[in-house]
Amino acid sequence: MTEKFDAIIVGAGPGGCAAAYSLAKIGFNVLMLERGKYPGAKNVMGGRMYAHALNRLIPEFWKEAPVERAVTREKLTLLCDKASVTLDFSDEQLLEPPNSFTILRAKFDQWFAGKAIEAGATLVPSIRVDDLLWRNKRVAGIVAGGDALEANVVIAADGAVSLMAEKAGLAKFAVKEFAIGMKEIIEMPAQVIEDRFNLASTEGAAQLFIGQCTKQIPGGGFIYTNRASLSVGIVVYISQLIEKRIEAHEIIREFNSNPAIAKLIAGGKIMEYSAHVIPEASRTGLFTDGMLVVGDAAGLLVNSGFTLRGMDMAIASGMTAAQVVKIAMERNDFSRKTLSHYEYLLKNDFVLKDRETFKRAPEFLQNARLYSLYPELACRLFHRLALVKGEKKRAFDELLEETKGERGQMLLDMIKGMRAL
Ligand SMILES: Cc1cc2nc3c(=O)[nH]c(=O)nc-3n(C[C@H](O)[C@H](O)[C@H](O)COP(=O)(O)OP(=O)(O)OC[C@H]3O[C@@H](n4cnc5c(N)ncnc54)[C@H](O)[C@@H]3O)c2cc1C
Repeated sequence: MTEKFDAIIVGAGPGGCAAAYSLAKIGFNVLMLERGKYPGAKNVMGGRMYAHALNRLIPEFWKEAPVERAVTREKLTLLCDKASVTLDFSDEQLLEPPNSFTILRAKFDQWFAGKAIEAGATLVPSIRVDDLLWRNKRVAGIVAGGDALEANVVIAADGAVSLMAEKAGLAKFAVKEFAIGMKEIIEMPAQVIEDRFNLASTEGAAQLFIGQCTKQIPGGGFIYTNRASLSVGIVVYISQLIEKRIEAHEIIREFNSNPAIAKLIAGGKIMEYSAHVIPEASRTGLFTDGMLVVGDAAGLLVNSGFTLRGMDMAIASGMTAAQVVKIAMERNDFSRKTLSHYEYLLKNDFVLKDRETFKRAPEFLQNARLYSLYPELACRLFHRLALVKGEKKRAFDELLEETKGERGQMLLDMIKGMRAL
C-alpha cells in the first residue's frame, strides 16, 4: 500500500514553509513539494519582510535567520524628470522589536524550509505538481510526473498563478487582477550602501519612488538595502503595460537611468534580474473538500502603495491552515464544513481584516494623477521655494493660482486616498 500523508503542501515559499513547519512540529506526517531546484530558486521579491508573523511562529527568528538589514529608514521619493522630492523618515523605535527586515529570498526560503525539515517535514525539490487527485468529488492528494500521492489535506501554497487553486475551481485568473514586479539585485560594498543611504552598519533603508519612473503607468519603484547589495525594482499594473504596448524591461531601464536613482546605484554590478506577477485581487475561495489555499495562491496580499505585504500574509495564512488541519485531524473530517474554519480564523486575524481595510487601495492606486500631476506639483513647489533670482513671489500663491481649475479634483483624490490607504 502506498503511504498516505497527513498533509501535502505544494510550494516551498513562505506560505508553504510556515504550514509545513507548524504541522511537522505537532508531529504530523508532512510532504512539501517544490518545483524549483531548491526553495527560493524560483522566488522573486522586493526584499522586505514585515517581521510580526514569523516572530509569532519562531520568536526572535532574526537571531538565526539569514536576514540582511533591519529597516530603520523609510523614504518616499516623488520623481520628476530632473528634480525629486524625498520624505525621509528614520525611527530607531522600528527596532524594538524589529518591524521589518530586508531579505534575499534564495537564502531565506532555504533557511525556512530547513526549519520545516528539522521539525520533521519531508521536502522534495525539483518536482512540479501537475494536478490534484480526486476521490468522491473531494481532493485526496496530488499528481506529479504521472505519480499520484495521497493525503488527508492538500495545502496549495504555489504562488500567485496557482495551478492548484485553478484545478480545484477556486480561482479564475484575469490579467487585470495582477501587477508585475521586476527586480534586479545590484552588488555594492556595504560601506558604500551605508554612506549613500545614511545608515549604521546593521540598519537598512526602504525607499519607494513614484512619478517619472514608470512611463506614466500606475505603479512605483523601490530600493531596499541588503548587506552588500541593493534590491532595485518596479511594480506596475500588467493591464496598462499591455494597453500601452510597453515592454517590462523598458520600464526598469528608464527607472535606473532617472538621475535620482542612477546616483544611488552608480558603480554597482547587476547580479540577477527576475520578474514575477503579484495578485491584486482575492480569489473566489480559500478552501474546498480536502484542500486549503494559502498566501499568494489565495490572493492574500496587501498593496497599500507605501507597504507591499505578501510574506507576512503568506506566513500567517500558512500557520492558520496548519491550525485547521489539526482540528480536522482530531475530528477525522476533512470536508469543507470543517475546513471552513480556516476562513473564520483568517477573518479574526490580521490577514482578512487587513485585506478588507485596504480593499479600495488597488483602485485608488490606478489613478494616473498620482504618478504625473502630484509629483510634478511637489517638484514645482520645492523648485520655487529654493530658487532665488531677484524678485520672489510666494511659492504657494503661485501654485494655488496654477491649480485653480483642478482643486476640486485634487480634493476628491485626497478624500479617496484617505479612505483607501
Ligand atoms: C517584485 C516583487 C516584489 C515584492 N516585494 C515584496 C515585499 O517587499 N514584501 C512582501 O512581503 N512581499 C513582497 N512581494 C510579494 C511576495 O513575494 C509574495 O506575497 C510571497 O512570496 C507569497 O508567498 P507564497 O508562499 O504564497 O508564494 P511564493 O513565494 O510565490 O512561493 C510559491 C512556491 O511554489 C512553488 N510552485 C509553484 N507552482 C508549483 C507547482 N505546480 N509544483 C511545485 N511547486 C510549485 C514556487 O516555485 C514557489 O517556490 C513582492 C513580489 C514581487 C513579485
